[in-house]
Amino acid sequence: MKLKHGAEYIESLRKIHPVIYYKGKKIKDVTRHPATAPHVRAAAMTYALANDKEHRDLATATSHLTGRTISRFTHVHQNIEDLIKKIKMLRVLGQKTGTCFQRCVGLDGINATYSVVYEIDEKFGTDYLERFKKWLTYIQDENLMVVGAMTDPKGDRSKSPADQADPDQYVHVVERRDDGVVIRGAKLHMTGGVNSHEILLMPTTAMDERSKDYAITCAVPVDDPNVTMIFGRQASDDRRDKKERIDVGKPAYGAVGGEAVIVFEDVFVPAERVFMDGETEFTGSLVYRFAAHHRANYGACKTGLMDVLTGAVSYLAQIQGTAKASHVRDKVTEMIHLCETLYCSSIACSAEGWATPSGAYMVDTMLANVCKQNVTRFHFEVARLAVDLAGGLLATLPSQYDLESEDVGHLVKKYFSGAEGIPTEHRIKISRLIEAMTGGTALVESMHGAGSPQAQRVMIFREGDLAKKIKLAKALSGIPVKEKPFRTPN
Ligand code: SF4
Ligand code: FE
Repeated sequence: MKLKHGAEYIESLRKIHPVIYYKGKKIKDVTRHPATAPHVRAAAMTYALANDKEHRDLATATSHLTGRTISRFTHVHQNIEDLIKKIKMLRVLGQKTGTCFQRCVGLDGINATYSVVYEIDEKFGTDYLERFKKWLTYIQDENLMVVGAMTDPKGDRSKSPADQADPDQYVHVVERRDDGVVIRGAKLHMTGGVNSHEILLMPTTAMDERSKDYAITCAVPVDDPNVTMIFGRQASDDRRDKKERIDVGKPAYGAVGGEAVIVFEDVFVPAERVFMDGETEFTGSLVYRFAAHHRANYGACKTGLMDVLTGAVSYLAQIQGTAKASHVRDKVTEMIHLCETLYCSSIACSAEGWATPSGAYMVDTMLANVCKQNVTRFHFEVARLAVDLAGGLLATLPSQYDLESEDVGHLVKKYFSGAEGIPTEHRIKISRLIEAMTGGTALVESMHGAGSPQAQRVMIFREGDLAKKIKLAKALSGIPVKEKPFRTPN
């Protein structure tokens, strides 16, 4: 692993110069800009964890390609133990950063692509896997951060990629040369895009034969001159001014992952970096395997965040003198219960993992969908309970400027104090942390990241095997399992 520490990762970002815009201006250095630096620091934690004695075993793995020690974020899962270790690692990182540390998107893209290109090669005799292994060995040895780029803008959602009035609404191949392809289009909501080294671009949906030019999987360096990124806004991002350390709530890290739109304006991709080109029948499994891996993760990274939130409200209750009230204990118990229930499903879908023909391990897809569906509810319920326990203070606290003001600072300190001996500043800081983790942009990722709730419901119904369940019910109630065919009333 060339990049061994968080500091080396940050330094490596200073050596590349991707084109990034934020609020209409170019960002020169993502590691120092107040809008992006918090996300860089969160991703740096994925590097730091590998050096932490207690967590090294979780954060590193042995490459099945080279036998060398690598970051788990670049590893192709070889067994169930790998899947479970990943889950444990993500919870620890959620606890340490209280936010999205972004690097799992690339990890899931690597795993989905590896297993699917193996199957493409088996069917068509292509050499995608060899190309992919070469690229992956480079990623593993250098220990680079990869952004998994899947979501296209999609234009008119009722139409397939090939039927869009504007063909660029899905990334597509605009030219095929002997030595590679030229691609055009964009990917939205790219978590960690601005602070990654490489983009692993994948199709966004299952495609039919007519959409061959859109069935493209390939790797592009983030600083390709024809790649432009536009970094998204987050709630309260203007508070990230140097003086407002307290009002940010979580000064070191961002509210969520830090997302960007990545635009590809006729980017040339050399053949050795193309891992799928036109094999439309495999687009569905690539998308689904990626989504299932990412949905499994959410019951881990988000439980890490819920641990922090539960700790924050419990501390606030202590310093406000309400910790022993029975309703407070009950609500905290419910927060813990919801959090651990989610974690169960992440562990379960990993424990029920299975080997794809390539040898790469997949999670149980039904349980992964159930896991993510529950994130869209439980994280919100945990946040609701946190806001309930914290009180109206979250919405009415005076700013850090008032706290530090010569004129009114003493009034803020006096009237926002809690238990004797606890500085008012501590009460304000912990309240701001709760505000940052429950409001604004903080929860949107739990709803829509790894696919919106409806995407999971479609898969849960599809994989629910209703025919088998009907047979079970019939057998127990004495109805013949095989009946004369009948028409189901609408
Ligand atoms: Fe990783 Fe969670 Fe962020 Fe997804 S939302 S990239 S799983 S930390
Ligand atoms: Fe995400």
